[in-house]
Amino acid sequence: MEERDFFDEVTERKVHKMVCPHCGQAAEYELSWLVRRKRAQLPRGANDNDRARFAKARSYMLRMDDLAGCKNIRCRKRFEVVGVQSVADLQEVAAGSAENRAERIRAAFGRRSLG
Ligand SMILES: [Zn+2]
Repeated sequence: MEERDFFDEVTERKVHKMVCPHCGQAAEYELSWLVRRKRAQLPRGANDNDRARFAKARSYMLRMDDLAGCKNIRCRKRFEVVGVQSVADLQEVAAGSAENRAERIRAAFGRRSLG
């Protein structure tokens, strides 16, 4: 069973505020995201290994756009999308159990002490 069997996949457009590095103008830009939401149940034919992987699987989204075109008509330059995570965790949306939240907090503190 492949990872994509664990998820329902949709493409969504979300609005993000970004600042053009060329002219410094802030504007709202629509970015495409590939959203993978964990399914409520495993598809038929799953084995023990699949079940273990499914238990660990988390919903997430991947940014598909790496470039944006400046909306300032006097600039119009393309710039790289920064400051918007390319992988966003949808865990809260998907499951959101108290246990998951505790895990997230531990993970966040772990990263902070490393960084
Ligand atoms: Zn610009």
